[in-house]
Amino acid sequence: MKKRILALLMVSVLTLQLAGCDTANTDTVGKETQDSIKDMFNSARNDRENTEESSAGEDTEALETEEPGTEDADTDTEVRYQDDYYEFVNQNLLSKIELAATDAHWDWFGELNAVVSSEMEDIIDELAGDGNTYEKGSSEQKIKDMYECVTNMENREKTGLGPLKPHMDSIRNASSIDEYVDALAHLSGEFGFSSIVGGYNIMQDKADSSEYAVYMMYADTLIGKEYVEGENTQEYMDLYLDYINDMLMEFGMTADEAAQSTDAIEGLLREICASTLTTEQLYDPAVTYNVYTAQDLQALYSNIDVPKMLKTLRIDGQDRYIVMDVEQAKKVNSLLEEENLQALKDYSTFVMLNDTAKYANANYAKLSDDMRNALYGITESWGDEKTWKNLTQDMLPWDFGMIYVEEHFSARDKEAVEEMIGQILEEYETIIKRQDWMSDATKQKAIRKLDTMQVKIGYPDEWPAARDMMQVTPVSEGGSLLSNLLVSMQVAIEDSLNKLGTKVDRSEWDVTPQTINAMYDPLNNEIIFPAAILQAPFYDRDNSYGANLGGIGFVIAHEVSHAFDSSGALYDEYGNYNVWWTEEELAEYKKMSESIVDYYSEYEMMGVKVNGDLTLMENIADLGAMTCITSIIGDDAKALDEAFGQMTYNWASEDTASFMMYLLNTDTHSPNKVRVNAVLSSCDAFYKIYDIKETDGMYVAPEDRVGIWK
Ligand SMILES: [Zn+2]
Repeated sequence: MKKRILALLMVSVLTLQLAGCDTANTDTVGKETQDSIKDMFNSARNDRENTEESSAGEDTEALETEEPGTEDADTDTEVRYQDDYYEFVNQNLLSKIELAATDAHWDWFGELNAVVSSEMEDIIDELAGDGNTYEKGSSEQKIKDMYECVTNMENREKTGLGPLKPHMDSIRNASSIDEYVDALAHLSGEFGFSSIVGGYNIMQDKADSSEYAVYMMYADTLIGKEYVEGENTQEYMDLYLDYINDMLMEFGMTADEAAQSTDAIEGLLREICASTLTTEQLYDPAVTYNVYTAQDLQALYSNIDVPKMLKTLRIDGQDRYIVMDVEQAKKVNSLLEEENLQALKDYSTFVMLNDTAKYANANYAKLSDDMRNALYGITESWGDEKTWKNLTQDMLPWDFGMIYVEEHFSARDKEAVEEMIGQILEEYETIIKRQDWMSDATKQKAIRKLDTMQVKIGYPDEWPAARDMMQVTPVSEGGSLLSNLLVSMQVAIEDSLNKLGTKVDRSEWDVTPQTINAMYDPLNNEIIFPAAILQAPFYDRDNSYGANLGGIGFVIAHEVSHAFDSSGALYDEYGNYNVWWTEEELAEYKKMSESIVDYYSEYEMMGVKVNGDLTLMENIADLGAMTCITSIIGDDAKALDEAFGQMTYNWASEDTASFMMYLLNTDTHSPNKVRVNAVLSSCDAFYKIYDIKETDGMYVAPEDRVGIWK
């Protein structure tokens, strides 16, 4: 859980692929259906082209005068583009998409991910069946032996929690808070497990991003603050408590013991969540960047021996420690009392079981799988083979990444996208120059941030050290899935400890090339486009210029815009947290932000209002991106229509009700339909090419349209 939140803090992502990657996974499509996906994709494209023609037509002059949408649209549909552009453009596509029982969500990111994943599955199949022995340490050896560890259920049953057992015992047998914290510190220092206290991460220092710093992480809040405290989430909370209970029984507790422990864990969880930052606060460095010395830390955690803990964690001797959630740390400290010892031990026991369930024996893995399915409204599991192949890919992301690049990367597409990035950066410069609320000095700083922005496309020049460090011990040499998982966790810790005290290498990649996504990283002032995003429908060399601008162009402009969203704007061109705006400008920025919060809070899905605060950064990025794209296109109505249509099409999605609830509670992006309609309704160019009347659903009065970058 913490690692995922960490990713959120470091990188603003385009969709929920990173923010909630596991949960949004839709790769349920095996090799056998791959061709049919491509067919469906092609037919969906044709549908859209037809739809677009009906909404816009070839003749752009007619566009403005003849209400083409009503005239040419399908007669059996009642959706008008003037009322609901998203629904109008996507209705044919979405009518063909039926969520499988194994899916919580469908969108193009998931669809492409399924294709990538099925290609990786072919590689696994080939290696598993070829009867060859590969050189130790080669990607082939690692993948082949890892897959055997994953699929050998006899070995997994025999292993049980074996390699974890001594560590679990050290928690279970702790007879004082001191022994308990010591056990946690050993677990965190060696493997990176963190539950209540002692978790840390080594990341770029926000105040000086050329250096690394130690960030003291917060307690694991399990299902998360939003569900624990939400108004509409009680049924999910009940479900999660049942899961805790079942896991503890599987661990060996009696029904009574498990029930009692579950109650105690819930009590701690509610107390911790009440003192935990909201997701949107986690993006605010003014809230999360709190510098502590070792002495300050001791004062904060007065109930434990801090020097001893830091030594066990192997992070003693630092001149600064960054505490991300001070109020939560105070709360945790207050709970570290002997009277809570049993509840704390149960809490940490459950976190370890939860963190490793997927890799343990069948019963734990099933409980974890069932929980996830229930939370997202999935009614059928993937089945063993699919689950095993996904797990194998998760364990060796960079080995699969190397193979992906060898087989799929096109230098020609890279060049075309680079050109478009140049054009978008230039357009942002023009947009910044025309802002009358910004002083010339501030504009110069903003432009410098654009000029120095690093661009990463495709894959890294050098593969991360962690790839070589990760070695797989086969079953024949005593390895198991769980023992190899622990090795991968040790590798992550060693890799980050190696970095502490060195200068940051900004050419490193944190994201694999097979990732279907794009990111902006404020600490490196860089945009990242992994190889796998450079494909249709996001980028297609056969598409028109307008369509590609609405596709990959919108994605690029969205990421660039994160450099100036409510969080990104607080970092300078070096990636340092350094407020470079005047007081008046910040006040103006805040005023515009508040209008954006109010504007989005009026939209709803399933009767639940969008959380305008949670989604502010992403909404600013979407609004800015649309300004940029439409400014580049100018008055070309046909290109504008193509761009609007492509952007809308790329954000088509279907969700189960439970998954939509999950998104509304936790995703920093607005739901896809809102992302499209809210942005277009605030876009002046949209009104220029379509005939939208005051009485139409898409209409927003000019003075009520929002955005920072207009
Ligand atoms: Zn974003």
